[in-house]
Amino acid sequence: MVDLAAPLSPGSTIGILGGGQLGRMMAMAAADMGLRCAVLCPDPQSPAFEVCSHSVVADYDDIDALENFASLVDVATYEFENVPARTAEVLNHRKPLYPGPRALAVSQDRLTEKNFITGLGVDTAPFAEVSSREDLAGALATTGTPCVLKTRRFGYDGKGQVLISAPGDGPAAFAELGASPSILEGFITFECEISVIAARDVHGNVRHYDPVENTHRNHILKRSVVPARIDDETRARALAITTQILDGLDYVGVMGVEMFAEAGGHLRVNEIAPRVHNSGHWTQDACITGQFEQHIRAICGWPLGSTDRFADVVMENLIGDDVGHWNSAVQNPNSKLHVYGKSETRPGRKMGHVTTLSRAK
Ligand code: AMP
Repeated sequence: MVDLAAPLSPGSTIGILGGGQLGRMMAMAAADMGLRCAVLCPDPQSPAFEVCSHSVVADYDDIDALENFASLVDVATYEFENVPARTAEVLNHRKPLYPGPRALAVSQDRLTEKNFITGLGVDTAPFAEVSSREDLAGALATTGTPCVLKTRRFGYDGKGQVLISAPGDGPAAFAELGASPSILEGFITFECEISVIAARDVHGNVRHYDPVENTHRNHILKRSVVPARIDDETRARALAITTQILDGLDYVGVMGVEMFAEAGGHLRVNEIAPRVHNSGHWTQDACITGQFEQHIRAICGWPLGSTDRFADVVMENLIGDDVGHWNSAVQNPNSKLHVYGKSETRPGRKMGHVTTLSRAK
């Protein structure tokens, strides 16, 4: 494992694995500070390729391509958590990789993630491992019904999960997930879903953004509202939990921590994302330092910028055909339109977002 010897100067090159909208917005923030980006992605149509200095079309497990990529860059990062362990190892052998391999290992596997979080003394939904059909009865006794069966790996936007309403539905749900190693989670009746976006620098300093309240449509984030409807005490606890997670991973970079807020303000962590996060897209328009700039600052060994927020915000994702309504977004002088430049519009695909700002109350 390699660490930065000194803060990187403008003119240095950042390697980004993944060429989607997150990679694109990171590269744009880096360019603002005179830093170049090399992006590696298997898709030749990657939106980030339009805005970076070097585009590398290669598979994430192409070791020769990774070695070449490592020789181009001064530090490496990623825009998605499913970076293969071997890929992270190859890069991190040559250049600093932030966030480090431990953050990837923990967030790639829902069981490891839950064990890590509960090990910090932080609550999650009640959960149990389901490796085989035989584990179902015991797991259902732990969680009760309703509950959610989720594959341990490669789940996102509601994929790889099935709601179980009655204990008898367990075997069919497990079969629906292809009998993959899974976890069963108790279903949480939350008042709202929130997330905290925060960053930790190479010296261990942490800065948080205001917690965000999120609503989903078809399991995909649709809207984020800041400030979230939580009281000051709940807010303080959400920030403290996030710091514990960042410190526990000796993390460098921006992270998104998703939580369920129950009646009475009780918080349970749902999942962590070791990267810039969709529910933090408002920060670039409403805070002194946006999450993309913050991530770049952290991984370059720079001090973190202020996360102070100067507006209340509603951020709406433009999903699939929603992007056709871009014209109504630009009619509002208090809205900022972001379109990711994807070559094809598909149902469920994140095509852009709109942040609408109003004076902070
Ligand atoms: P995930 O892929 O784990 O982020 O889940 C996607 C969405 O499904 C979450 O944002 C929640 O809205 C819902 N969800 C997931 N797990 C649970 C749970 N244990 N209880 C209630 N809702 C859940």
